[in-house]
Amino acid sequence: KRNMLIIRSFTTLLLTCIAFRLACCFSSSISPLKALPLVGHLEFEDIHHASKDFGNRYQLLPLAVLHPKSVSDIASAIRYIWMMGHHSQLTVAARGRGHSLQGQAQTRHGIVIHMESLQPQKLQVHSVGAPTPYVDVSGGELWINILHETLKSGLAPKSWTDYLHLTVGGTLSNAGISGQAFRHGPQISNVHQLEVVTGKGEILNCSERQNSDLFHGVLGGLGQFGIITRARIALEPAPAMVKWMRVLYLDFSAFAKDQERLISADKRFDYIEGFVIINRTGLLNNWRLSFTPEDPLQASQFKSDGRTLYCLEVGKYFKMDDNKDVMNQEVKEWLSELSYVSSTLFSTEVTYEEFLDRVHVSEKKLRSKGQWEVPHPWLNLLVPRSRVNDFAKGVFGSILTDTSNGPVIVYPVNKSKWDNRTSAVTPEEEIFYLVAILTSAVPGSTGKDGVEHILKRNQRILEFSQAQGFGLKQYLPHYTTRREWRSHFGPKWEDFVRRKSRYDPLAMLAPGQRIFEKAQ
Ligand code: FAD
Repeated sequence: KRNMLIIRSFTTLLLTCIAFRLACCFSSSISPLKALPLVGHLEFEDIHHASKDFGNRYQLLPLAVLHPKSVSDIASAIRYIWMMGHHSQLTVAARGRGHSLQGQAQTRHGIVIHMESLQPQKLQVHSVGAPTPYVDVSGGELWINILHETLKSGLAPKSWTDYLHLTVGGTLSNAGISGQAFRHGPQISNVHQLEVVTGKGEILNCSERQNSDLFHGVLGGLGQFGIITRARIALEPAPAMVKWMRVLYLDFSAFAKDQERLISADKRFDYIEGFVIINRTGLLNNWRLSFTPEDPLQASQFKSDGRTLYCLEVGKYFKMDDNKDVMNQEVKEWLSELSYVSSTLFSTEVTYEEFLDRVHVSEKKLRSKGQWEVPHPWLNLLVPRSRVNDFAKGVFGSILTDTSNGPVIVYPVNKSKWDNRTSAVTPEEEIFYLVAILTSAVPGSTGKDGVEHILKRNQRILEFSQAQGFGLKQYLPHYTTRREWRSHFGPKWEDFVRRKSRYDPLAMLAPGQRIFEKAQ
């Protein structure tokens, strides 16, 4: 008993010493930080917002939040930590909109960089004299602002995410995928040039031709090699309107076959996605109000009877002066080649802007009901085409039958539109599917709609896929061990590690990804 008491007191003493040392370390970091010559400022008090994210499950309180006004502010802060070398415990997390799920944009006792503070420069659209138009934007810019600005010149980026209130740096650190990716590739395939601040505080421009190793590393690089402070984004002439259509399938393989047929047929639809509808009756009556059935009488006779349904969603872009009769006739012909349930064609026409900003409408509704800031135990997967039917059978047909509190998005993309030199990881096959299981949890619930239950269900999906050898990859990956990260990156791991030691040797950047630990 006495020995136990001694051990306990010794452990308490040891922990107190460690805590004291850490406290000294961090408080001794504050004074020199306060002395940094900045155009913007460091905030030490109002920092709690930076310890949260959209996932609403992880909370790490930083030491300070940097509100940079210029790239040199970011470089100064990083250079300070770099110069301190192993004497500083500080890490640095760039924070875009904080729409990460598991604390990826957070740092415990480190510096969070509020990237949106960088934005005020005017966006520069270049459409004359360049071979193809482009826009230069800040890494902290929101895609929605880029859309609004570029539309003024009749232009817009080619590749999007479903939701536009995300920053350029945040999506380029992952990939940026939506229903245009089958044609244009992800957003990381549509960037010409970046300005990056490395983990040594250097400000470097990079592109295919200049510092190409850094350029490819940063794209899809989960924030590990540098902070994106500027990006040159490819543009195209913007359409004015979108004919937006939805059709239903009772059978996954017919749905997937048609999706694949459409992504291979060039110059037809401009947007191709799809989603799974689990356990919902009366669906067609509750369809989004703006969608109208092509044949109301037939549509009213369709009964979903609570079966799992698959909804193909397509969009055809058009300009005001396009001949609408010709377009409608073409669309009709393309649709006639598909094998959906014929009574379930629904369509609507919206402006391009409304179409791209569609998720924001749901966001506003959810916010008004207090359902936006709930835990989001999301699971995003990239599933190889050859196994997608098996995946659907096991996951949509069995594991996922009890809950669908949030969309389950499914659509194929082509690997040939992804640049294999970037850090982004995809399955090996030419066609793979994004499967995004975007479940919201009810705060505090211990039932089926609670976080714990949903996390267990996600784990079952991963274990099932592993056991079946599907060869899938996580998108917006989350792992906690080196072994898992190595396996995630596969043949790209060696390059990933090499780039880390080259561009961020102290491993101070994006600690919330939990891939590397800061050198002590
Ligand atoms: P943050 O969450 O702030 O940061 C993400 C990571 O990138 C962190 O590690 C951070 O440190 C790092 N980072 C941030 N800025 C920079 C920078 N400038 N330089 C270097 N590293 C940086 N993704 C898709 O691909 N397609 C979709 O359709 C899609 N839809 C979504 C819908 C919603 C409602 C939400 C919440 C997310 C969606 N996402 C989608 C995921 C989204 O792309 C990622 O979560 C993205 O990282 C969010 O951007 P952010 O600006 O909030 O980044």
